[in-house]
Amino acid sequence: MNAVLRSWRTSLERFRFVRSLRFRVVAGFLVFFTLMLSAVGFIFREMLISILYGQTAQALEEEWGGTKGYLRIEHQRPLWYFDRFDPEESLIVSRMQRVYVITDANGIVLEVSSIYRNLGVDRLVHIQQVLRSPEPVLEVRKDDTGTPYLVRQGAVLDDKHRLYFLAIGRSMADGMRTVNKFAWRYFALMPLLVVLAAVLGWHLAGRGLRPLHDFAATAHQITGSNLNVQIPLRNAGDELDELVEAFNRMIERLNLSFEQIRQFSTDVSHELRTPLTAIRGQLEVALFTAKTTEQYQDAMVNALQDVEQLSNIIRALLLLSQAESGQLALQLHPVNLTDVARDMADQYQIPAEASAIELNTQIQNDCWIRADKTQMERLLSNLLSNAIKYTPQGGQVTLRTLRLPDGKVGIEVEDTGIGIAAENLPHIFDRFYRVRASHSTAIQGLGLGLSFVSWIVNAHGGSIDVRSHEGRGTCFCVSLPPAEPAPMPASPPAVVSESLPG
Ligand code: ADP
Repeated sequence: MNAVLRSWRTSLERFRFVRSLRFRVVAGFLVFFTLMLSAVGFIFREMLISILYGQTAQALEEEWGGTKGYLRIEHQRPLWYFDRFDPEESLIVSRMQRVYVITDANGIVLEVSSIYRNLGVDRLVHIQQVLRSPEPVLEVRKDDTGTPYLVRQGAVLDDKHRLYFLAIGRSMADGMRTVNKFAWRYFALMPLLVVLAAVLGWHLAGRGLRPLHDFAATAHQITGSNLNVQIPLRNAGDELDELVEAFNRMIERLNLSFEQIRQFSTDVSHELRTPLTAIRGQLEVALFTAKTTEQYQDAMVNALQDVEQLSNIIRALLLLSQAESGQLALQLHPVNLTDVARDMADQYQIPAEASAIELNTQIQNDCWIRADKTQMERLLSNLLSNAIKYTPQGGQVTLRTLRLPDGKVGIEVEDTGIGIAAENLPHIFDRFYRVRASHSTAIQGLGLGLSFVSWIVNAHGGSIDVRSHEGRGTCFCVSLPPAEPAPMPASPPAVVSESLPG
């Protein structure tokens, strides 16, 4: 049993090794290298053979010219004319006569050398074809022992201008032997080259991939509580550095997200604890110190208000998390922002008057956008309620809708309120962020309203900008993509808007 397990584990290990990147890189390289070496070997061999063929053909061409000087056919008999005492001429003629045949036009052999006979004397059909051909015919033939000969065949005339078939040949054995020797050595050397390439490739791949192992080791150290790890850059400027850079950026972003989640949990617990402590206090008052019915009632009313605030926080958080997790599907339709803005301005007239604030409107007609009307109302409601909240008595709030020069549709909510200090501006859209200034902490809020506003704007493909001067006022400017007006003039009656608490 143990033996089976062990062999199974070993085969698994082997399998893993085969699947390693290093192995695959080297194996791929070796296959390519072997194929390339073989191709180069074959190409070189073919090139050498064709050079050899060309050289032999050239030599035969010269010999063919020589036959005209030494060979004559008289009375249907080939006669060789040369000076037998001249060693050079004797050598030339004897070389011609080594591989040689001459026949008449009917294929009757007049003279043939023994080597040519071994190559096979030509058939009549072939002889007639050669005699008709204007060009000489070149072909490679092998004798009984397999030795290759290049043979040149053509027509010659006798003194009566009759056609005869002449073929001379030359052995290519020496040249082929050299070529084959070269090929054999080359292919015999190949395994050695492949082994060397394998060793070198294995070493180089190991060196090249080592940063990946470091990379994996660092990645193993990363946990939810240890996201400050960074993989050191090698500054090689290669793809691995690019990967390390991207990985480090990813860790930074994860760290930021984890930090935000941690911060969010702290904020949520803090925000929930405050009303809970107050409720507990009120209940303790009711239980231990209240004596009269009024005191009981007071305690209960206060506790109820805190419960209301608690449920407001939970409702807002739920909505925000639904929005951010994509569960809050937008119902997009052509919406005339002009109508929505007018409705909202009407709704906020009474709260504005109650706070002794003048609420003005500058609303352009026909500002069409493609939007979820309820969310647009929520957006305006949050901005207007903030503007009224953070503007002291006697101040002014202006709501504008307008078509911007770039064709987009703008919403502006401007107030002459307490303003926001420049250092706080980058954070006001963060969840639970509230400006901790003496004049604003007294004002009730959760710090969630602007987070929701920002989500609504983004979900509609728009952008939001804030201009503010401390003590002089704030302007929230929203820009949204325009849309074609709805085909039907009548739009459904406006739903009473709901603003997020805070
Ligand atoms: P909340 O109003 O509940 O505090 P918001 O998310 O709506 O939460 O706003 C975040 C912070 O931005 C507020 O606490 C406030 O300090 C600041 N703020 C928002 N609107 C205005 C405004 N119109 N004028 C001055 N400060 C503002």
